[in-house]
Amino acid sequence: MKKRFDTTLLEELLAASVRPLLMGHFNPDGDSVGALMAMSHYLISRGMYPSAVLPSHYPEYLAFLIGEETPLTIHSQEDDNARDLIASADLLICFDFNRLSRTEQLEDDILASEAPKVLIDHHPHPEVEHFDLVYSDTELSSSCELLFWILMSMSDIQGDPSRLTLKCSESLYVGMMTDTNNFYNSVIASTFEMASLLTGVGVDKTKLQEAVYNNYSADRMRLMGHLLKDCLHIIGDCGVAYLLLSAEDKRLYNFAIGDSEGFVNLPLSIKGIRISALFSELDNGQDKYIRVSLRSKGDLDVNRFASLYCNGGGHINAAGGRLYMPFEEVASYIEKSFREYLKIG
Ligand code: 5GP
Ligand code: MN
Repeated sequence: MKKRFDTTLLEELLAASVRPLLMGHFNPDGDSVGALMAMSHYLISRGMYPSAVLPSHYPEYLAFLIGEETPLTIHSQEDDNARDLIASADLLICFDFNRLSRTEQLEDDILASEAPKVLIDHHPHPEVEHFDLVYSDTELSSSCELLFWILMSMSDIQGDPSRLTLKCSESLYVGMMTDTNNFYNSVIASTFEMASLLTGVGVDKTKLQEAVYNNYSADRMRLMGHLLKDCLHIIGDCGVAYLLLSAEDKRLYNFAIGDSEGFVNLPLSIKGIRISALFSELDNGQDKYIRVSLRSKGDLDVNRFASLYCNGGGHINAAGGRLYMPFEEVASYIEKSFREYLKIG
């Protein structure tokens, strides 16, 4: 079952690089941050000095993964550090996105860079034309699983996970765990094999589950209660349920980045519901839009729905995007869109 990848070119690119830069996507999740941190620990163990850039801030529940060893720069409009790092890097390694537009305002900087570019991702239809080396496997649970099997194929690791540092192993485990919703979806045999190999070399799965899933504020729990009681809408004949999270409710419940993690999965436990959505109103002065999260069961494709109706994309069963309209209009827009998409009514 072990997955093998050809790492010849990757090893050549690493050997030739002095200033490697690791990049994740906008609104980085556990998979993107996990892969970026895992690669950073691996490169450090090879004697390299990687830097990392995220196009926007990571959620607080991932802070424990981010150490001091790797200079992590978060892009902001106010300073040009992220842009400067991209311009001066001699190797770019991108994690967990299939389109450069997922790096938002940094897209043009990446395009302008003449450094070799590597993509490590598990989304469908990656923009291969922008990269010199692409590892893309949509079968795998996560970019972290893909990176795990790539690292296992490297000549200095030789398939022996005990050669990874513990921090590298923990980062890989967290990305896989969060992208599979704690082993609930997208898990295949090789995912269990990865988990088994990593726990076998010292990864403490209970410690990581505690850090990620049992570390929220009481306000977040109360917000979840309010949403489920007062903001849950069901389109019964479509098998669709959705949650509306307003900017006002975020203020009332002291919302922090990452607090809505997992909310979109909750309505899927209702009998007959096969698609779930979360619409989260974002209003921070400069940015005003509605963030969309979509989940589905079986062969219902929310990736296509996200690209047709929500300016987004993703995977068949987990996708996201944005809506640019008054929050009050989301309910009617989304009901109409789902009826059209599912050809109901
Ligand atoms: P989430 O609902 O967890 O934010 O995102 C689920 C998946 O949808 C992500 O893994 C990512 O693949 C995709 N996704 C989320 N937001 C966007 C977006 O704005 N654009 C695109 N293309 N994909 C997105
Ligand atoms: Mn992912």
